[in-house]
Amino acid sequence: MNTTKFAAKFTEKSGILELMDDLGKAMKNANPNTCMLGGGNPAHIPEVQQLFQNEMQEIIADQKRFNSMIGNYTTPQGDLEVIQAFVKYLQKLSGWKISTNNVIILNSSQLGFFMLFNLLAGDTIDNKQNKILFPIVPEYIGYADQGLSDFFISEKPLIEKLGEHHFKYHINFEMLKVDQDIKALCVSRPTNPTGNVISDEDVVKLQKLAKNNGSYLIIDNAYGAPFPNILFKETEMLWEENMIHSFSLSKIGLPGTRTSFLVASEEIIQKLSSINAILSLASNNIGPELIKNLLIKNDLNTLSKELITPFYQKKSRKALSYFEKYMDHNLPYYVHESEGALFLWLWLENFPINTYELYERLKKRGVIVVPGKYFFPGYKSPWQHKDECIRLTYSQDDAKVEQGIRIIAEEVGKGYGE
Ligand code: PLP
Repeated sequence: MNTTKFAAKFTEKSGILELMDDLGKAMKNANPNTCMLGGGNPAHIPEVQQLFQNEMQEIIADQKRFNSMIGNYTTPQGDLEVIQAFVKYLQKLSGWKISTNNVIILNSSQLGFFMLFNLLAGDTIDNKQNKILFPIVPEYIGYADQGLSDFFISEKPLIEKLGEHHFKYHINFEMLKVDQDIKALCVSRPTNPTGNVISDEDVVKLQKLAKNNGSYLIIDNAYGAPFPNILFKETEMLWEENMIHSFSLSKIGLPGTRTSFLVASEEIIQKLSSINAILSLASNNIGPELIKNLLIKNDLNTLSKELITPFYQKKSRKALSYFEKYMDHNLPYYVHESEGALFLWLWLENFPINTYELYERLKKRGVIVVPGKYFFPGYKSPWQHKDECIRLTYSQDDAKVEQGIRIIAEEVGKGYGE
């Protein structure tokens, strides 16, 4: 068969495919001993699940709402009533000067990023190559293969060691080159995989840098404010005309509804609506309908701040304590500051075997993590650090997280001994 460029690009072995495969298999074969620290599945928090179940029951009991939820296509921009509720919610919360023309509902932020990246970057009709810049890597694995052409570039961070076994990445503004080809800068905040939260000052700096260059700053709030708010420090929510914000319902506990909201200039929203019409006709109604009343009553904030934030903060602290307990403190290991998201990012300085090999060894022992090398989209220069890190999720059952970290500590110890 003659392979198309599309098939070559989207069916080759990619980090995200391997990750989803491992996650799917581990969930399916449900070996009770497997420690699934690989994926990004949010935890099932009983109070949160209950709340969504109640909302769903209310919808089902209301014939009109139910019929329109399952029986109607919306416009490609999404259900106007929900968009209105979302706009009011953001205006009230953060004073953003936006209207319903600045918002689109999409079938997941993953799909939203595919549309957005390929809208802004790639081969232009006058034969130029527009680019997307990740001002700091490690960055989200799921961006890496989304470009229809090779248009991602990125800059490596500054590393600040903190205490004996902790560290934090910072954007290296001195090295950032933002030129005419760069149409957008993009950061996830908090960052998947590291749990880093770019400071408010750095967001402003990036926004100005982008503005002076006539480009956009994209903020991926999949774990951030105002929902799910898996954030362990206070942040500001900044809005300017050259910014694009993505918000997802997944990490509040609704990944199965595949719903996201994107806030951008009217021009971008119109273009995304056209693309959405071609790719999906319309977006789904289930996620938006489920949260409509929560938006109106401002309960989404209460839910995030009172249930979701403390749940994950407690889990993060526990996972960090397992590292303290099991790792050999004489080894040069460093855990990234856990400022948000569902992950811990472990850096093994000068590790004699690479962390892909460590991942394979851990898999044999029933512990699924993600090797670090996938989290450097657009960074093509050699850098040993890429092979010295792993990401692990702490959102699952505490006993499993503890068992997983104990086994990681054993394998890391063996690796350093080689
Ligand atoms: N962005 C980040 C940083 C993520 O970690 C994820 C999923 O894990 C996504 C976007 C995609 O989320 P979804 O497509 O479920 O909205």
